[in-house]
This record gives sequence, structure tokens and C-alpha cells, in this order.
Amino acid sequence: MKKHNFSAGPCILPEEVLKKASEAVINFNNDDLSILEISHRSQPFVDVIENARSLALEHLNLQNKGYTALFLQGGASMQFLMVAYNLLNNKAAYLNTGTWSSKAIKEARLFGELDEVASSKDNGFSYIPKGYMIPKDADYFHCTSNNTIYGTQMKEFPNTEVPIVCDMSSDIFSRTLDFSQFDLIYAGAQKNMGPAGATLVVIKDEILGKVSREIPSMLNYQLLIEKDSMFNTPPVFSVYVSMLTLEWLKEIGGISFIEKVNQQKADLLYNEIDRNPLFTGFAAVEDRSVMNATFTINNKALETKFDSMWAEARINGLHGHRSVGGYRASMYNALPLHSVQSLVDVMQELERIS
Ligand SMILES: *Cc1c(COP(=O)(O)O)cnc(C)c1O
Repeated sequence: MKKHNFSAGPCILPEEVLKKASEAVINFNNDDLSILEISHRSQPFVDVIENARSLALEHLNLQNKGYTALFLQGGASMQFLMVAYNLLNNKAAYLNTGTWSSKAIKEARLFGELDEVASSKDNGFSYIPKGYMIPKDADYFHCTSNNTIYGTQMKEFPNTEVPIVCDMSSDIFSRTLDFSQFDLIYAGAQKNMGPAGATLVVIKDEILGKVSREIPSMLNYQLLIEKDSMFNTPPVFSVYVSMLTLEWLKEIGGISFIEKVNQQKADLLYNEIDRNPLFTGFAAVEDRSVMNATFTINNKALETKFDSMWAEARINGLHGHRSVGGYRASMYNALPLHSVQSLVDVMQELERIS
């Protein structure tokens, strides 16, 4: 029996995806070769990456709308600098909602003037700033839709003429949004889409070609688009498993279906956090993430007991990020509702015996 996997990343993947992926490692497409040992230029793999790119756009409802999907390497962290390299001419506006935003800001500063329009650092990144102004002369506005570490999530995005760039690493494909409000979306695969190694980048083609600097080939979105996401050897296995996950998502009913399940899971856990006198939620209630729920135990003396109880209940990955401590339950798309129920059962059992 599989453990209840609340890991923040790399994260849980659907059982049937893991099964198909493991079969393909031995025998891909019934061709008596492994997915790991065929040419990335061979038709079977070209079909895989093309399917993955088109499924990504389909799920986001961005097909035939002037967008291109790429599967790149270097993680979401590489996008922190690629975004600025390709889009920052004079000035960019950044919303600082946590560790990942801060890292994106640090990289972008190498390329131009940075306007940090708002930050929630004053309160330990426990909320999403609102009511900030985005300067009209900014080349783009950058935000992080879901703050994996702090458990906050943007529910609304600013209405602005300035192109919006969004790091959606930890909530992509988890909820319905009008994705056409974004000009560039990026997400490391390992949070909600596949194994580590690939990063999905979705670009509105018309925002490119506006910076004057020379861009190295491997970092140049325009060139990577022209090469159909195959300038060099792509991370074949990560792309393949991402494709399987995107197919799985389509079969079960797409984002609009999984969004309801995700909301059920989040409601179940947050209700317990709020009801149970032993626990306190970390994030501001209106900004709570549906993906990563962060909470603390009020009486430190109960921590060891709680830790051994959830481990015994075969729960994995509940410790908070090393920078915040406490607990974090990551409830990505593939986590079943009954896993959240198991966690809630443990929380109630702790209350009963203490
Ligand atoms: C995990 C994470 C990152 C970093 O991703 P890497 O692929 O490890 O570079 C960036 N942004 C967010 C929101 C994340 O959750």
C-alpha cells in the first residue's frame, strides 16, 4: 500500500502514471526499447513532446491564441533569470510574496531596474499584498501564484496593461483561471506535473523580441520556440511523464474537475485546523493556498507525539519547509481525498488523547 504522500516537491504522481512510466522504462511503445535509450529526434519521442506541449496549452485553454509551450531545463530557478534576460529592457515590477519571489527578484536585478511593488516580508510572508500600483512603464509585472513554502495563494491577479509573468510552479493545472491574462507562465514539473528535470514555459509570442541585448542561445526563448523546444536534448523522461500526467488529467475531466477535488481536500484540512484547538493555521485565511496548507501545533510538547502518530499512519512529507518550521500538507492534484482524511483522523486522535 502506497503511503499518503504530502511531499511539497518532488511530489505525488498518479499511480497509473507511475505504472505506465515504469513500463516505458523497459519497453516503450512496444518497440522493445526503453524510453531512456531512444533518440530524442526519433518520431516516437517527437510525438511525445509535441503531445505534451499541445496538452499543456489545451488544459490552459491557450490553443490557437498566439502562445507556445516549451519544456526546458534548469528548473523554475532558471526562469528567474531567463525571464529578465528576454524581457527586461529598462524596468520590471515584482510582487514579493516569499522565498521564490525574492530569488526571482535577485536574479532580475542583474538585468535592469527593479520596482518591488509590494512585499509581505514584514509579516513573515503570511499574506498576499493587495492594492499595489504597477508602474505603466514597466516591461512586465512578475508574481508567484502560489507560495509553496508559506502556503499562500493569489486569488486575483492585477488588471494591468503591463505584461504579466507568473511563476505557477506549485499550482499549475490545479484551478481554473483565465490564463490568457498572463503573457508568460512557468512551472517546474516536479510540483504538480511530473518528475524533476523539466520546466514548462508558456509564452505569448508577441512579447518577445523587445530587448536590445544579445541573448545566449540556450537562454533565448525565441530560438527555443523556433527549434520546437529541441535546441538540445530535452529531459526526455521528465517530458514523457509530464505528458502522461497531462493525459491523466484530461481523462479525469481536466482542470475544472480537479479544481473541485482540490477544494474538497483543502476544505477538509482547513476546517480541522480551525476547529481543532491544538493547531493554528499559518497563512491569512483569505490567502490560504489550496495546494500547500501550513500550520503549527500550539503546544510544542505535543510535537514529538504528533510526529510519531502521523508517521505511524503512513503519512509522508508533513514537515514544514526548513525556513518556517511547523507543518505543511501539500495536496497536489494526484493526492486522493482519503489521504487528507487520514491526516485529519490523526489530528483528531491527538486531540482525543491529549
Ligand atoms: C519549487 C519552486 C521553485 C523552484 O523550482 P526549481 O525547479 O527547484 O528551480 C520556484 N518557484 C516556486 C513557486 C516553487 O514552488
